[in-house]
Amino acid sequence: MRIPLSAPDIDEADIAAVVSVLRTSRLSIGPRMEEFEASVAHYTGVPYGVALASGTAGLHLGLAALGIGEGDEVILPSFTFIAVANAVLYRRATPVFAQIDPRTLNLTAQTVAGAITRRTRAIIAVHTFGCPVDLDPIIDLATAHGLKVIEDACEALGAEYRGRRAGGLGEFGVFGFYPNKPITTGEGGMLVTRNRELAETVRALRNQGRRSSDGWLDHSLLGYNYRLSEINCALGLSQMSRIDAILAQREERAACYREHLRTVPELTLPVFETEGGRTCWFVFVVRLAERFTVQDRDRIIDYMIARGIGCGRYFAPVHRQPLYASYADPKCDLRVTDETASRTLALPFFNRLTDAEIAEVCLTLREAMETVGQVPDRFT
Ligand SMILES: *Cc1c(COP(=O)(O)O)cnc(C)c1O
Repeated sequence: MRIPLSAPDIDEADIAAVVSVLRTSRLSIGPRMEEFEASVAHYTGVPYGVALASGTAGLHLGLAALGIGEGDEVILPSFTFIAVANAVLYRRATPVFAQIDPRTLNLTAQTVAGAITRRTRAIIAVHTFGCPVDLDPIIDLATAHGLKVIEDACEALGAEYRGRRAGGLGEFGVFGFYPNKPITTGEGGMLVTRNRELAETVRALRNQGRRSSDGWLDHSLLGYNYRLSEINCALGLSQMSRIDAILAQREERAACYREHLRTVPELTLPVFETEGGRTCWFVFVVRLAERFTVQDRDRIIDYMIARGIGCGRYFAPVHRQPLYASYADPKCDLRVTDETASRTLALPFFNRLTDAEIAEVCLTLREAMETVGQVPDRFT
């Protein structure tokens, strides 16, 4: 793609940081990991961070550390990345999909309330596309029912809710560092929490079940190898050192898109003002008007791709995946999820996207909508 959907932002300092690790003999479980953990935890406003092989690993081990397992239900959105639901199935627990708010694309206390049963143990609030979930009412609801609130902040490093940072508000939060995320370690993730015991259990689980009091050949728990190497952690630490600049740059890119697209009548733009908050601009996802069918949307994507512009659908609802069809509880109305998923379109979004590229993407999108939707002169 001439203008890709996403692109990592690696600078010379990042490269030097990685190379400096390669000049040592410590490639795993070393000082870079500890520094990276401290950096992300401090930034999020909590005392503990546990670096992991992926964001998915963070969800898996966090659920394990809470003792969630067979017979337990976990409430989550269906309009999300499949990894969230997979982590629930890894524990043999049951995912229960709740409706999203059509404006923020996030769960709300109201939609969660309708999905609570006697078996519910936890709620995974996903800060979708970096837009902070209205968490206080969900936490109040969870407290009233004795449930844990988990934050999937994989798309939301630096997002703020009522002056506090996403990831640090629930029982634990999870970040992901895949190359399309706000900062990257190549592959990687981190669990952050205020709960020391939970952090220690997750630390043990990531390292073949070794507790800190165990020797290298003692394994008190059934663990995994979910460690993150020093090489990845050095890259993450270097990226964290310019997190403020990265977020500001992304905010500016989003504002530039808004200037170009705000007057297009048949597009709904992402939410810019949230409940006392700040969005971490992860992607720029727009929604087409109702008269555009899913086929129209896919033809618009094809039109853009044919012109060298990376463009994608985002997401396919999880309950539409064959593996999850049996979990689509008829009591939970997922119409907003289905309708939203069929009309969303992700546009190129990354730190170094230029104003000229954004202008070209927006012009091509208008052309595509005109061609596919056949409503000339409404966009001029
Ligand atoms: C990226 C992402 C994850 C985790 O992804 P990994 O590839 O496992 O790091 C989890 N949840 C959401 C919502 C994500 O966007």
